[in-house]
Amino acid sequence: MFKINNNVIKKIYKKIKEYDKIVIARHVGPDPDAIASQTALRDSIRLTFPNKDVVAVGLGVSKFKYYGILDKIDNDKYAGSLLIVLDVPNIHRVDGIDGLKYKEIMKIDHHPAEDVKGKVDWTDETACSTCQMIAELILKSPLKLDTKIAGNLYLGVVSDSDRFLLSYTTPKTFRVMHELLVKSKLEFTSLYNYLYDRSLDEVRFQGFLSTNMKVTDNGLGYIVIPNSIIKEYNVDLATPSNLINSFNFIREVIVWTFITEDAKNKAYKVSIRSHGPIVNSTAAKYNGGGHKYASGARLTSEEEIDSFINDLDRLCEEYKRGSISNI
Ligand code: AMP
Repeated sequence: MFKINNNVIKKIYKKIKEYDKIVIARHVGPDPDAIASQTALRDSIRLTFPNKDVVAVGLGVSKFKYYGILDKIDNDKYAGSLLIVLDVPNIHRVDGIDGLKYKEIMKIDHHPAEDVKGKVDWTDETACSTCQMIAELILKSPLKLDTKIAGNLYLGVVSDSDRFLLSYTTPKTFRVMHELLVKSKLEFTSLYNYLYDRSLDEVRFQGFLSTNMKVTDNGLGYIVIPNSIIKEYNVDLATPSNLINSFNFIREVIVWTFITEDAKNKAYKVSIRSHGPIVNSTAAKYNGGGHKYASGARLTSEEEIDSFINDLDRLCEEYKRGSISNI
């Protein structure tokens, strides 16, 4: 048995029981943890309370359709609902709630807290993923579990922890997964294809990134990816951030960042990873945020790109000199 956040779990369950209409949302540009936590919680509430009207909103992503189909809703019908926000702390990054007149917000997230605040709020920065938190919630409350829900949660955890490799993976992650697998009897090894199947185009694009990434003397790896390259390799805007964790463990690199042109929005989508200094404060300076060592930002001009790269390079230099630590 693992130590549980009994109090907050009780409060969350009580809130879910209280409302007949529940809308579940997550961040824009979803990853497997965002979508899987959303559909798993929706399906578990539906299974437990067949008479409740529970929906999962936001733009669907076809490559993540395995996790379940999202719901298109008529906002008027869901006025007065409970809005559960998963995996995102900033209100402007919550997808699919424009014009929704919800009565109350409740957040469950593993990012540092920002401006999404519910009366009931479960923020656990020590959790490797939101799926770990939803698994804990389901296992330690009367919410029901089936094999599909368990599979979604398992894949969300595996994806966000990068196969139990990133530093937020803790003994608790394994304890929650152990209980999830035992209780659901999930045959998890057959599911990996849903996470790791990829096109030859994407593999070749990864080759492009490693060949063209510049590395400074201070250990900053960076690459600016123009829209023409995204098109040439037949990949999409989300591909660089899906690949960025594969650049871990490069001896010469302390911090690395992919800056991808988002031509439609005249901006640059940025992913940052670090195994040295904390980078989310630099991300926050550039319209971003996220975890201490895995963050994102948005840039809007070439001057901003230069300034951002300089800031990260200086951070690496200070880290190498020992004038800042990684805690
Ligand atoms: P990514 O590199 O897209 O996987 O994002 C890494 C982390 O940073 C995730 O936790 C994201 O939710 C967060 N993130 C990405 N972009 C932004 C942004 N523009 N503002 C705040 N957080 C972000």
